[in-house]
Amino acid sequence: ARALPQSNVDAAINAAYHQYLPLTEGKNADYIPALAEVPSTYFGIALVGADGQIHSAGDVEQPFSIQSISKVFNMALVMKESGQQRIIDSVGVDATGQVFNSIEAVEQYRGKEMNPLVNPGAIATVGNIQGTDPDQIWAKIIGIHSDFAGRQLEVNQPVYQSEAATNQRNRAIGSLMSAYDRFAMDPAVATELYTRGCSINVTARDLAVMGATLAFGGRNPVTGKQVIDSSLVPGILAVMATAGLYDDSGKWLFKTGLPAKSGVGGGLMAVAPGKFGIGTFAPPLDEAGNSVRGQRAIIDIVNALHANPYAQF
Ligand code: GLN
Repeated sequence: ARALPQSNVDAAINAAYHQYLPLTEGKNADYIPALAEVPSTYFGIALVGADGQIHSAGDVEQPFSIQSISKVFNMALVMKESGQQRIIDSVGVDATGQVFNSIEAVEQYRGKEMNPLVNPGAIATVGNIQGTDPDQIWAKIIGIHSDFAGRQLEVNQPVYQSEAATNQRNRAIGSLMSAYDRFAMDPAVATELYTRGCSINVTARDLAVMGATLAFGGRNPVTGKQVIDSSLVPGILAVMATAGLYDDSGKWLFKTGLPAKSGVGGGLMAVAPGKFGIGTFAPPLDEAGNSVRGQRAIIDIVNALHANPYAQF
């Protein structure tokens, strides 16, 4: 990997931070009641390159729930345990063109042809983790997230309680995917573990390290740990490029060329393969459920650092 000029990186981050700090567009997610209470003003940007150094601006140490970004690491876990083919066969790797919690998307192909980054596919992905003891499966989930972040992560209990009390729709989706034989685990257990995974607290800095681990072939550039085999990374990034920002994934790829994943907690993680990982936190979301300021900031930074892989000329 070629080293990034450090001063350009800091200048790009600072410019994006100051440009979008005053932007108030968008709205916190409120279908999970606890997310509506997170101050909308938080804004943080962090970037980690090959040397593991953190470049940042704003609220990069503020914990928030990872939400859908956890789907990436659950997918990585299943691939690590059971191989990539398991995801292709049991979940799928195609865009649904529907909102992230669409039941119509499930019905269209009777639970097939989904992907691990929309709720039906994400719950099925958790359902494909090996084991029968929920505690043991949870240990693997929190373990792989922590390895990607390079520190021990924990669950945000208020967010977990809030979502667990209001996730009837996800429970229905889990049951429907189970009815279509997409996984063998008890669907109530799979949905509960999925929800707990969504409630893991991270910071923008963590997301940058997690993204950088993907950018550098599954090796965490801060801890030096090889978290997953490098052969799994291109497939994971392909699914992120296809479906990481739900039904706005095409618009995102058009503007950045980068695989990324958003969460309704306001997090956004993008990966510039061989170059850097970037993480942002800004709770207000657009209609598709993606962080408004996070998207704007990353688009500017990617342009400033010439990091779009389709523009390497
Ligand atoms: N836990 C959330 C849900 O299942 C995650 C969704 C998201 O971040 N888009 O609804």
